[in-house]
Amino acid sequence: MIEVTAWRESKIGRIGYDCRDGKVFITWNFEGVDEKKEIRLSDIKKLNMEGYTSNYVLEFQDKNDKIIFKEKLLDKQDCENLKLYLEQQMAEASELFEDLKREYVPIREAQKIIEEKLEINPADFDPDKFLRFLLFQAKYARATGVHFNPGQQDVRVRFRIDGLLMDVARLHWEVYNSLLSSAKRLAGLIELKRAIPREGVFHLGFPEPLGVRLSLMPLTEGEKMILRILPFESELLKLEDLGMPPDIYERYHALLNSSKGMVLICGPAGGGKTTTIYGSLLHMVDESGDTLNISTIEDPVESHVESFCQTQVDTKSGLTTFRGLSSILRQDPDIILVGDLRDYKVGELALSGAMDEHLMFSSVQANNAPQAFLRIMEMGVAPAFLDSTVLVVLAQRLVRKVCSFCSEEAAPPEELKKKAEELGIKNITYRAGKGCTACNMTGYLGRTGVFELFAPDKEFFNLLQSEPTLEQLLSEAKSKGYNALSNDAVIKAASGLTGWEEIKNII
Ligand SMILES: [Zn+2]
Repeated sequence: MIEVTAWRESKIGRIGYDCRDGKVFITWNFEGVDEKKEIRLSDIKKLNMEGYTSNYVLEFQDKNDKIIFKEKLLDKQDCENLKLYLEQQMAEASELFEDLKREYVPIREAQKIIEEKLEINPADFDPDKFLRFLLFQAKYARATGVHFNPGQQDVRVRFRIDGLLMDVARLHWEVYNSLLSSAKRLAGLIELKRAIPREGVFHLGFPEPLGVRLSLMPLTEGEKMILRILPFESELLKLEDLGMPPDIYERYHALLNSSKGMVLICGPAGGGKTTTIYGSLLHMVDESGDTLNISTIEDPVESHVESFCQTQVDTKSGLTTFRGLSSILRQDPDIILVGDLRDYKVGELALSGAMDEHLMFSSVQANNAPQAFLRIMEMGVAPAFLDSTVLVVLAQRLVRKVCSFCSEEAAPPEELKKKAEELGIKNITYRAGKGCTACNMTGYLGRTGVFELFAPDKEFFNLLQSEPTLEQLLSEAKSKGYNALSNDAVIKAASGLTGWEEIKNII
């Protein structure tokens, strides 16, 4: 939240700013009641203040000269402060727009632009502006985060693109320390004498909305900072764009019509589990015409979605996943997302909720779908909670897609040929990227999911009662037509979507 505290108390109450999810609000307090109005500042062309006898009417117009905000009587000082602030922000935004191309920027170009920015006179260096610049540059380079690695001489800055870290700049220690302070201030974290691991979130409203999760870790030398760029609702992937093979998509889609039960997504951290869950929930919002109560308890909330009621875990104030979920269950929910199943208390509560009358979504860290059951039982959850409650387990990984600009048909590796043959694939159209500026010379551009789906039946649940090994579970699942993740991976490589090096570790 960004709040302009410079504004003094007006006669009608306090006026402030709230800038989250790219939506900017003007809030004010009128006779003790908070009122809020949403405006998109980047769309605002004019700010008009008509003079009245002693007070003023505030009026905003959008690009098409339509009045989008016309409000209350404010006093003159409030209006002037607001106008000044907006003009300042707009000027800064247009300055940034000049430097920043709001389109895809390959890493080499980003390196050059950042280098140029750093060449200015240290006296003119503005850490707030540079931080904002760096974050937007990262976004336009398709990065999901910015990593700062402190070294003895200087600090290395890297962008994470398609899962890999790529060097973009080296910063002097003074520059890094000023960026560190700037980021902490934005996230509302105070400077401490002795650094401790900390997390925070901040939102930038200009030149366009950007949400950032800040993570700090003390090192023997300085503090390591990681800034994760949070996707906005409009940037979240749709269920049909996740890369599910048609048969898995159909089966999964059909199961989403269930009114109760547990849907489990499993895979490694950073494997796209949350993206899949958000995609599923958004799909259900659409299909139901937004008539469902979808409540979430997450740690952290990765994207704010208008149609969900999202709660962030806050252990410090006692809002644990367990407490949050207990409260949600009393709030007449239709669909619940509980971030991650980590202990038996949360596991049993979530599963009993799914048994009753709620459709529950959660994730668990497991390598494959049958293993997800073992993991949950290892937490101490009794098999009875799983019985007939778990509708489906979807296991997934993310793999890089072969670059569409520089890839050509190539001879498939022998191992892939063998695997494809085993699956009965006769025609292989393998593709490999040579490397170009668009893909930062890696031959890969963008990522897609690789999936397996397993819907357990009564016999599988019976097997769970007898303390089975993973091998037993896998062979039981296979006898029921369970297709391992590796099958989808082989199909995707054999059809030229991804490369052998991307999938060899999951086969
Ligand atoms: Zn390329």
